[in-house]
Amino acid sequence: MTGHSPQGPTVSVIVPCYNESENLPALYARMRDVMDSSHEEWEMICVNDGSTDETLDRLIQLYQEDPRVVVIDLSRNFGKEAALTAGLAHARGQCAIPLDADLQDPPEIIPRMLAKWREGFDVVNAVRISRKGESWLKKISSYAFYRAINCMSIVEIPPNTGDLRLLSRPTLDALKALPERRRFMKGLFAWLGFRTASVYYHREPRHAGRSKWSYQKLWQFALDGITSFSQVPLRFASYLGFVVSGLASFSAIYLVARTLLKGSPVKGYPSIMVTLLFLGGVQLMALGVIGEYLGRTYEECKQRPIYLVRRIWSHKDVDEA
Ligand code: UDP
Ligand code: MG
Repeated sequence: MTGHSPQGPTVSVIVPCYNESENLPALYARMRDVMDSSHEEWEMICVNDGSTDETLDRLIQLYQEDPRVVVIDLSRNFGKEAALTAGLAHARGQCAIPLDADLQDPPEIIPRMLAKWREGFDVVNAVRISRKGESWLKKISSYAFYRAINCMSIVEIPPNTGDLRLLSRPTLDALKALPERRRFMKGLFAWLGFRTASVYYHREPRHAGRSKWSYQKLWQFALDGITSFSQVPLRFASYLGFVVSGLASFSAIYLVARTLLKGSPVKGYPSIMVTLLFLGGVQLMALGVIGEYLGRTYEECKQRPIYLVRRIWSHKDVDEA
């Protein structure tokens, strides 16, 4: 782990990019206008997350035109959370701001976040008041996910807060020191605590291109979130076990009593089948829940790196993190 150099800029903006070539020119132009008018020293760290289009070429072009642009090329697609982790690891600023490349979160709110940071807050969340251009299914599933995870989780994960936020240097260093491989960023940010403020904004539709999140990926993301921040499903499995075995003992007593009093009619095939199937189902479900956690434990203990860097383009000396 590396600290930042004292000569570093004030603000590091981190942009994970996966097939975002169409968005990059507009993103850069808007970022530059906003940051230059804020009179802060800044750098823009773009992480190419194994894009298959011209994203890398465009990024290198930006790097050649503007020395404040740093490009980190990962060896393949590692996913957004890993790309963000790579960018944060290389941030040299006194604060860092992760920003999506698709301009859904307008860079224009950055000065408001910086103002809060200057007031002394360590984390400034950008909370969306509205989300244009997203399907109702996505909005409903997102609402359900936050309700579910906040019922179970050890920390309160704010809904309607994407990855756009400001992190002060102490927060960033704390985040970098967290060792887990599966990085459910929203949860990690919430887990850190620190003095937190919010700014509010309207989320725009994507500038160009498509969202990289299929429903399958979102489901995976939700499972990662819940298993990283809650053990309630494990506990639920054992409670269910207690309830089912309680019910089973009652029915055993009833069956024995009935046989003693009335003799055995030697029917009962349906009740046996029902019990058998029910218990089988419950057991499989509990095993599945345990398996989800076990699989993640396995992955954590392999200790593989979160991402691999192929090459870095930077006008400054960067530490390999
Ligand atoms: N992204 C990435 N790696 C991936 C998927 C996405 O770096 O495997 C980046 C993407 O380029 C964008 C950001 O993460 O800058 C958010 O992605 P997207 O807009 O697809 O997500 P959504 O806004 O739909 O949640
Ligand atoms: Mg997006």
